Amino acid sequence: MKASAFAYARATSLTNALEILAAHGDRAKVLAGGQSLMPAMNLRLISPELIVDIGELAELRGIAVKGDVLTIGALTRHVDLLRSTEIAAHAPLLAEAIAHVAHPAIRNRGTIGGSLAHADPASELPACMLALGATVIVRGSGGERRIAAEEFFTGIYETALSSQELLVAVELQVAQNFAHFFHEFARRHGDYAIVGLAAQARVNDGTFAGLRLGFFAVGDRPLLAKAASKLIGVAVTPAVLVEAARALDDELDPQEDQEASPAMRRHLAKVLLARGVAALLQRPDLNAGATA
Ligand SMILES: Cc1cc2nc3c(=O)[nH]c(=O)nc-3n(C[C@H](O)[C@H](O)[C@H](O)COP(=O)(O)OP(=O)(O)OC[C@H]3O[C@@H](n4cnc5c(N)ncnc54)[C@H](O)[C@@H]3O)c2cc1C
Repeated sequence: MKASAFAYARATSLTNALEILAAHGDRAKVLAGGQSLMPAMNLRLISPELIVDIGELAELRGIAVKGDVLTIGALTRHVDLLRSTEIAAHAPLLAEAIAHVAHPAIRNRGTIGGSLAHADPASELPACMLALGATVIVRGSGGERRIAAEEFFTGIYETALSSQELLVAVELQVAQNFAHFFHEFARRHGDYAIVGLAAQARVNDGTFAGLRLGFFAVGDRPLLAKAASKLIGVAVTPAVLVEAARALDDELDPQEDQEASPAMRRHLAKVLLARGVAALLQRPDLNAGATA
């Protein structure tokens, strides 16, 4: 199938892109790498009247570290993140996660801004943003908004972005003395996850001083699990882990699809919880202690 007829505008600057979006509202769609937009248009899931191509806006591309803040421009491609020494040094969780996003051909064109704006609940990067406590920076004709990642994802393929705004960058705290964990269950490497977990922790003397657990493919949006609070500041025993798993179970709202039943997703999320906690605390004895 081919996309319905549409008009095309190539934005020449950020201001120009915002002017076009303000003039056309819901009838326009932003084109970044096209790796999710074009398939959706070709399947006629969406039929925008106008495509606003922001691909040439160099001001939205790049990775910068200033003090303890790491800024990633929205048009930075997955492949750039994968190869970046700044990302490897300051956000190793992200580097690990990107390797699981699709395949090289898609990573060569797909962008971080596109992935976050698309907000697929089974996507790796939205959950990483929760685990890393990212701030999403959005620009509209009225100015800039800074949105905490946990407020940004509002539903399946839904975000806090309005149709007249652009996601311009994300900001992360530089990872210092953090431990991280990333794992996803997928049928094949590069497929969307059946269930996944991106986690970042601060560990002091064998206990969690901080723990952020970003689960994906467990509901209509990525989940920053409140169950983590059961594990912070206490000696983690198998019984504590079982309690955290019960709390996690209450937070999950997994969907049924051809990949997995809700029960299977609940089970896999608890397997990941145990694996993640065991890996972050370097306590192999805790692995598989939360799935009962
Ligand atoms: C075969 C295949 C496998 C895939 N596997 C995975 C996977 O395993 N994991 C995964 O996470 N993704 C996967 N994807 C999806 C894809 O990798 C990402 O969704 C994609 O990289 C999005 O980035 P993009 O730049 O291509 O966005 P586009 O396709 O250009 O845009 C996506 C959406 O975001 C909007 N948008 C884009 N940029 C902005 C912006 N700066 N501001 C506001 N709105 C914006 C667009 O209007 C559109 O609605 C897969 C895709 C394919 C085709």
